[in-house]
Amino acid sequence: MFQRMLDDVNPRVAAILDGALEGREMSVEDAELLLGVEGADQHALLWAADRARQEDVGDDVSYVICRNVNFTNICYVGCSFCGFARHKHQSDAYVHDMDTLLEKCAGAVERGATEICIQGGIHPQKNHEYYRELAATIKNAFPQLHLHAYSPEEIDWGHRKSGMDLADYLRWLMEAGVSSLPGTAAEILDDEIREILSPRKLKTARWVEIIKTAHSIGLPTTSTVMYGHIESARHVAAHMGLIRDIQKETGGFTEFVPLGYIHEMNELYNVLGSRPGSTASEDIRIIAVARLFMRPWITNIQISWVKMGHKLGQIALGAGANDFGGTLMEESISRESGSMFGENTAPEDFRRLIREVGRTPVERNTLYGVLHRFEDPALDPPSMEPGAASGSSEESDTGARSAGSEPVLQVVS
Ligand code: SF4
Repeated sequence: MFQRMLDDVNPRVAAILDGALEGREMSVEDAELLLGVEGADQHALLWAADRARQEDVGDDVSYVICRNVNFTNICYVGCSFCGFARHKHQSDAYVHDMDTLLEKCAGAVERGATEICIQGGIHPQKNHEYYRELAATIKNAFPQLHLHAYSPEEIDWGHRKSGMDLADYLRWLMEAGVSSLPGTAAEILDDEIREILSPRKLKTARWVEIIKTAHSIGLPTTSTVMYGHIESARHVAAHMGLIRDIQKETGGFTEFVPLGYIHEMNELYNVLGSRPGSTASEDIRIIAVARLFMRPWITNIQISWVKMGHKLGQIALGAGANDFGGTLMEESISRESGSMFGENTAPEDFRRLIREVGRTPVERNTLYGVLHRFEDPALDPPSMEPGAASGSSEESDTGARSAGSEPVLQVVS
């Protein structure tokens, strides 16, 4: 019976998968083809990606205890896919003061966080001095926290305000406590697509300049792609090719994170007529193609549980992924675009989800250093989630709920 399935696999697909498993670099054209396979070809793709994952990183699945801190939702950029940004006169626009932000960090530390991810809208009255002060204030109060802060869009804004050399500006932020950058604001690194998604946003060349400069001074970044809107498989494959080329040159990416587009509450779908997001098959295929395409240059392929949900995330763990992302604690970017998967996943939930698919949970730091490997469930630490002592982890002191309990926001820049 299985031979019949193998007989059904397209010989070209089989040759590409064989080549990837033998360590040959996959071409962009081959990735484009794999992104659209179905039936027996898709089964073969997922099997090959799972095999490659096992060879590359073994059976551990990592996660990081982190908190998102969005300091403002006021933004002038106007990305058509964004449900998070507000005009300053809207009733739910906010700019959190430093005390509020420090309280959020303190709450995160109490819950075991090792990382704070700082991103926000591009506020017309904030500048480079504000970005530095925000990082320095948090780092001085909580020196143990890794600050994963400021997307390339925010770096572009702050840098242009500063008048400094780009490398000097990034070093200046590092001195204040920034230790890595989110590789967001990438969406699709193709200026024709970017012109439709967000004409005022930084262009591909500028994104690449910021990322390469960060890597050149020892500031690592993540890498991302946003798919499921107006792009084609050709754009996604070319985007992945650009990310791989940068990685060959700099080695500065810690991971690759495919981000499915959330369509419900934005202009791109409701006015401009984009697709209503990706299918479940696309979500799994892009993880599998990323695993095979990026090897050996990027070995950490991360699931975005906010976009995919926990159950599809578990499937993705069997199709090439080895990282479940972060706890987040406060996820307001995907939620405000219509994501339904909550804004907090507790560490104990990550461990359960990972064990349910027969893998070993590992708590990592931002740079993929192993902090704890949880081989024996009997030795798991007690929950640090608010309400855990009374047996409820449904709702935190911030109003954050566990995944699946409420619609969550799409951040940002
Ligand atoms: S995605 Fe970021 S830059 Fe774009 S509108 Fe939203 S907050 Fe602003």
